[in-house]
Amino acid sequence: MSLLTVGSVAFDALETPFGKTDKIIGGAATYITLAASYFTQQNNLVAVVGGDFPQDMIGLLEEHGVDTKGLEIVQDGKTFFWSGKYHEDMNTRDTLITELNVMEHFDPIIPNSYQGTEYLMLGNTVPATQKLVIERLAKRPKLIMLDTMNLWMNIALDDLKSVLKLVDLLTINDEEARLLSGEYSLRKAAKKIMAMGPKTLIIKKGEHGALLFQDDRIFFAPALPLEEVFDPTGAGDSFAGGFIGYLAATDDISFENMKRAIIYGSAMASFCVEKFGTERLVNLSKEEINARVQEFVKLASFEIQ
Ligand code: AMP
Repeated sequence: MSLLTVGSVAFDALETPFGKTDKIIGGAATYITLAASYFTQQNNLVAVVGGDFPQDMIGLLEEHGVDTKGLEIVQDGKTFFWSGKYHEDMNTRDTLITELNVMEHFDPIIPNSYQGTEYLMLGNTVPATQKLVIERLAKRPKLIMLDTMNLWMNIALDDLKSVLKLVDLLTINDEEARLLSGEYSLRKAAKKIMAMGPKTLIIKKGEHGALLFQDDRIFFAPALPLEEVFDPTGAGDSFAGGFIGYLAATDDISFENMKRAIIYGSAMASFCVEKFGTERLVNLSKEEINARVQEFVKLASFEIQ
């Protein structure tokens, strides 16, 4: 089934306890589409970059089967830029710089060939843009999933709440869930957030895994304890790409299948953090992914007599 992803395509500058990068390619939609490319063939992208964005990176996305017809290039504009610094524990980070540039006034045009998409992934970007995309789809997709972050809760809360009413599934981290709901208990937070619109909620807890909530049901997926985490940037987006890519490939949005999807998403996130930026995500094989999923199965399975 076809997947449409909207979100940032960016330059990132990162600092981790292991080193520093100059501007490298990043962005939510970059990680999402790359991760999803291992699952779904129809992998469509709507995003915007400036004339400073390298053509060979667009080529790399295309090599991974990403359709870039919907990637607008504003020749005289600058690409979105984000810079972040990770703390010693690698689980928390500070945003140092956010320059929206061409993303601020992006008018998302949906190519005709993307209409009728069954799965929509609204990756992290301006909430008003996320809403415009939903409004511009002639037919409501089977599943609309949205990712966001604390910045939008702080500067565009009304727009965010307005788009939340229209989506089926929200994915955020534990800190953001607490900020959005005003509740410390994640169970209480989940209840409040699901009352804002999304019937299903995923709360990511970094190296401590992720929780899936739907009605009164909860599922917990661990994160794989890795010997080395190099760069956590994009882990949340790779998770989302693996999750929705798997759902689109299997075309099954039942809670049981979401449990499997969350493991595939966690596997993609575990690869992403092993190298800087998108380096690890562009060089994966299906065999590696399946072997890693088996590690998750082993990690979390036990029997009680
Ligand atoms: P993650 O580590 O999965 O939370 O996502 C990291 C990616 O999000 C980076 O590649 C950034 O370019 C992108 N990003 C950071 N801040 C924003 C923002 N305000 N809007 C859209 N994308 C962002």
